[in-house]
Amino acid sequence: MPLKESEAIILRTYPLREADLLVTFFTRLEGKVRGVARSAKKSKRRFGGALEPLTYVRAYYEDREGQELTRLDSCDVIESPLANEVSYPRAVALGHVAELLGELLPEREANDAVFRLTLSVLATLSGANVWMPVTYFELWLTRLTGFLPELSECIVCGEALNGSRAFFHALADGLMCPEDKRLASAEMSSDSRSLAAQMFRAPVESFSSTTWAKARASDLRKFLVQTLERHIEKKLVTAAMLEKISS
Ligand SMILES: [Zn+2]
Repeated sequence: MPLKESEAIILRTYPLREADLLVTFFTRLEGKVRGVARSAKKSKRRFGGALEPLTYVRAYYEDREGQELTRLDSCDVIESPLANEVSYPRAVALGHVAELLGELLPEREANDAVFRLTLSVLATLSGANVWMPVTYFELWLTRLTGFLPELSECIVCGEALNGSRAFFHALADGLMCPEDKRLASAEMSSDSRSLAAQMFRAPVESFSSTTWAKARASDLRKFLVQTLERHIEKKLVTAAMLEKISS
């Protein structure tokens, strides 16, 4: 079969046999693809540095008759996350983007909106500035995968939440008014809700002039992570790691 060529974002790699790697990559052409990179640990010419998670590459791969895994022939680096300083918070944030894409994208289903979202968020995820890009990515990814509930009304009584207090719970699919909130609900501040509304109207670059403290929109991120974890029916490893970062 002919060699395919596509822009792609490397999501993760696992050692396979000896020098081979199993690679999950998100192609622009046909979404998430899994393949084998033969002798990847040895061949600098075909892969040199290109298989680090979140590297933006041009990938060349070939599907094989009756085989589930594609053969990843080679990759050219377009942009590497390692070109910038990799602080611990940034490394965890990059891992979070990769884990979310790995868990949420179906295989072989192109999604150009998510591809463009990922590239634009990666471009702002630099140095110590992690909380804004992480929030933006979680918010938009939740929406683009169809898992974001309506945020402007109570899911129980349908009352508008404009200006009033809103609550969320790990087992409830949306926000609730003070009368309908469940026991042990957390509150989502009106600041965070209006921030979400702004993020739906503007590109990520327009928020990158300020560096956020971890506390900013942490309630919104908790809500989004709970929403996504409910749908994938598992805990996100990197969400717990982000939670432990101190600033
Ligand atoms: Zn209500």
